[in-house]
Amino acid sequence: IMNRFSKDMESIDQELAPYSEAFVVDILSCLSTIVLITWITPAFLIFGVFVSILFGYVGILYLNLSRELKRFESITRSPINQHFTETLTGVTTIRAYGDERRFLVQNMQKIDTNNRPFFFVWANNRWMSFRAQFTGSSIVAISAALAVLAARQIDSGLAGISLSFAASFSTSALWVLRCYADVEININSVERVQEYITDIKEESATETPFDPPASWPEHGEISVEGLSLRYAPNLPLVIKDISFHVNSGEKVGVVGRTGAGKSTIITSFFRFIEPAQGKIVIDGVDITKIGLNSLRRGLAIIPQEPTLFTGSLRSNLDMFNESDDLSIYESLRRVGLISRDEYNSLRTVIESGQSLEEYNKSNENSEENVNKFTNLEAEVTENGGNLSQGERQLICLARSLLKSPKILLLDEATASIDYETDAMIQNTIREEFSESTILTIAHRLKTIIDYDKILVLDHGNAKEYDHPYNLITKEGSQFRSMCQDTGEFDELVRLAKEAYDAKK
Ligand code: ATP
Ligand code: MG
Repeated sequence: IMNRFSKDMESIDQELAPYSEAFVVDILSCLSTIVLITWITPAFLIFGVFVSILFGYVGILYLNLSRELKRFESITRSPINQHFTETLTGVTTIRAYGDERRFLVQNMQKIDTNNRPFFFVWANNRWMSFRAQFTGSSIVAISAALAVLAARQIDSGLAGISLSFAASFSTSALWVLRCYADVEININSVERVQEYITDIKEESATETPFDPPASWPEHGEISVEGLSLRYAPNLPLVIKDISFHVNSGEKVGVVGRTGAGKSTIITSFFRFIEPAQGKIVIDGVDITKIGLNSLRRGLAIIPQEPTLFTGSLRSNLDMFNESDDLSIYESLRRVGLISRDEYNSLRTVIESGQSLEEYNKSNENSEENVNKFTNLEAEVTENGGNLSQGERQLICLARSLLKSPKILLLDEATASIDYETDAMIQNTIREEFSESTILTIAHRLKTIIDYDKILVLDHGNAKEYDHPYNLITKEGSQFRSMCQDTGEFDELVRLAKEAYDAKK
């Protein structure tokens, strides 16, 4: 994608246009020279045919080689970038082992390989230039000879014109070939950009006349009816005719083997893939009928990989600039990134109308170790690289809290963090989203054992859908055997029973 928007667009704008212009100019100039000379000395036509054949022959040889050389140059370029990126990522390791030299040499070798065809491009150019000049000169020679032979019939002025045009022929002819080769090579970029313009299907409309009000979804009731999904028309169904109903405020755990289609179902709520059949109805609204903006704003997801952007803490939490400082701090407090005391003093600052900037500055100057999350302008580097994995996850959670969504989707949100942080996040989710409907994909069955329902997926089919206690006590159920595999079966049964009794 980067290539299309940079290199290909550059070729189209800066190379293709001037080269095609030059090509047209030069070919017209060549043709007019030939027509002019033929008109002054008609016998030239006979020689002209031979010269053209010779010229065409040189041209074909030149073009064949240029094409190959160009291809060679472009396939030797990516290894340089690749090697460079790899080196950059592993630079600490390389330095630790004192092996800089090897990578330096590898890098130079790759650059050499890439430069080699460049040398031949010019050799080829010189080769062609010599032959084109030679052909051009033979045109001068022939037209001069013909003018001398017909000295008595033609006007001396005309003979002069014929000669001076013939002299400029070789330069134009040379450029015809060069420009043609460049146009041919660069037209490739047009093809590649064209592919993006016409061949890639756009997402559905972001806004439609049927969009629900901004407060949608108010209850968070989900109905999945006969849903089938596939990733592309030529691929098999990944989700096969699944139906289930989630009441407002219910917590549903989704489990299943790897590749069962759990993530697929979650992403289909955002319509990253459109249903092949069936529909998802949220609070009475069929989500396939509404614009993507309202849909995606209405739901919140905490993905497996916490996604952060380069910018400030604030820009990461409140992307659309919709919330005031206090509610942002509130959400940070609720996920535990700032303490209640810190929150209170920040609130005093905001309510008394003091500027936060000064507050932060005085904090920075103080000797104490200040919590960086009290400063909303704190820098977040690319992908949240300056934060720990758990902190990133908590920021994503705070971001969802800020939206206070009625529906929250979690895709193994806590799979890659330590048990303590996981427990803390799960607690926050339980407390803060008690009113919301939650769909959770979980690898640790313990996190979902006290949920209201469990959906067991198997090869895209919904195998079981019931309260975890009902499933775990049912002989031969898939969920039961999954729980048995964990080795903490008894505890899971106990937790499920507790939750079941509490619910009753
Ligand atoms: P895991 O527990 O490993 O995350 P999952 O249940 O989330 O598994 P999905 O990611 O939903 O599994 O994948 C379901 C099926 O869809 C798999 O067979 C997978 O190969 C296929 N699949 C996933 N993504 C794509 C894609 N972009 N294009 C084509 N097929 C895909
Ligand atoms: Mg998955």
